[in-house]
Amino acid sequence: MPYQIAQDTYIFQSCIWQTNSCVILNEAANIIIDPCYFPVEIQVIEDFVSRRKSFNKYIIFTHSDFDHIVGYQYFKGAKLLGHGEMARCDREAQVLQAREIDQTYYINRKTPFLFPELDLTFASDFRVPLKGDELALFHAPGHTADSIFIVSTAKRVLFAGDYLSDLEFPFIYFDSGAYSRTLELAEKIVRDFQIEIVVPGHGELAKGREEIFERINNDKEYLANLLENAQDLCFQGLQEKEITEVLKGIKYRNEPIEGSMLKMHEENIRLILKEIQSF
Ligand SMILES: [Zn+2]
Repeated sequence: MPYQIAQDTYIFQSCIWQTNSCVILNEAANIIIDPCYFPVEIQVIEDFVSRRKSFNKYIIFTHSDFDHIVGYQYFKGAKLLGHGEMARCDREAQVLQAREIDQTYYINRKTPFLFPELDLTFASDFRVPLKGDELALFHAPGHTADSIFIVSTAKRVLFAGDYLSDLEFPFIYFDSGAYSRTLELAEKIVRDFQIEIVVPGHGELAKGREEIFERINNDKEYLANLLENAQDLCFQGLQEKEITEVLKGIKYRNEPIEGSMLKMHEENIRLILKEIQSF
């Protein structure tokens, strides 16, 4: 069952990765953000949305990672909206990852997943007018090059894609500098639009200013720690292997990073070291 967070605004959470799909029902347009993940879950969202007819239907992708785009084919007649950079992402890699997960867990999709062709794209920002509300979309690169933030201006909700999750530290697939600037943008958006709820791509909502800023600050702290320590160690002339060993000990929310999360942390370390070396 969906979880209602504001009038006509609903969250469906998948049982894999706690991935959040969002639905906004409105007379001007029904909006679906990142429909996912298992076919039965997507079908439930489709049934829910199709009960309320609307003039327009949009699917908005927060970014091009397969776990966020895999469900769009269930929504006939929806306009697909996302950042222009999505055209440049590695489509093949996303399709392969989705297929691998489907094979591993015997997931049967009635239509084979194809990478979406967007109907509408934008560069820096975009507005979707709704009755009594307006969605403001902003480019938010860092996690990926094509990540965006979506703001329901009337309901003061920020749909953050793969940022500000309570389950994950920053996963930097694209660029650490852009990631830091996007966290600044998040702060600005929370202030300017008086955001009260943040819906991350994975995990629990952040409710209220205090929790929202705590998440932003935790992520800023992690990035700053990673970058400053990496620069120091490089400056001291340590080898990449030694540097990696030290950086693996960086904490997130005062806890050591362990288990399957360590692999993601090591990916971040690799990317940061590559960025430093390319200067
Ligand atoms: Zn994700």
